[in-house]
Amino acid sequence: MPFGHDMVHSLATVVELVNTSPATGGEEGLPGLAELQAFVESREVSGVSELTARDLTQVRAVREAFHRVFTAPDQPTAVHTLNSLLSSTRITPRLTEHDGHPLHVHYFAADSSLAEHLAADCGVALALLLVEGEGERLRTCSAPDCDHVFVDESRNRSRVYCDSRTCGNRMHVAAYRARRRA
Ligand SMILES: [Zn+2]
Ligand SMILES: [Zn+2]
Repeated sequence: MPFGHDMVHSLATVVELVNTSPATGGEEGLPGLAELQAFVESREVSGVSELTARDLTQVRAVREAFHRVFTAPDQPTAVHTLNSLLSSTRITPRLTEHDGHPLHVHYFAADSSLAEHLAADCGVALALLLVEGEGERLRTCSAPDCDHVFVDESRNRSRVYCDSRTCGNRMHVAAYRARRRA
């Protein structure tokens, strides 16, 4: 994909966030503040102050909005859903080189809450993806027992499983066994 490192990072963050939702087929991945803190650290979300129960509630709400973008039945629905999220988010582009990262743009306002930070940076990344006409890369896993989302970064947009090492492998093994039985 012709997207820069920041965009790839933001897209990976939104995928990881959405996949903590019980709506994607598993347990609640953000049951408490410890898990939210672990998410912030693993995704290197910068400038986050001490987290509260309010952050957890807000992040889960933003997560569900992003999930609706991934599962939108068509582009107008995805656009509408994303626009309503963006319209309630302060967005202030700002160049930065923090923590040894090369010059990149932050979209979240300097005093953003964690939820607003994620809504701004991940929201802009998804908006740019739609603008590039790449919205169909936003996918849900085809394995029958998995509804994880992913961004298909393959050249020919052919990826159907959230993770080739887990779901992809599992489904290949199942298909192989089914063929052997047949
Ligand atoms: Zn940054
Ligand atoms: Zn999967």
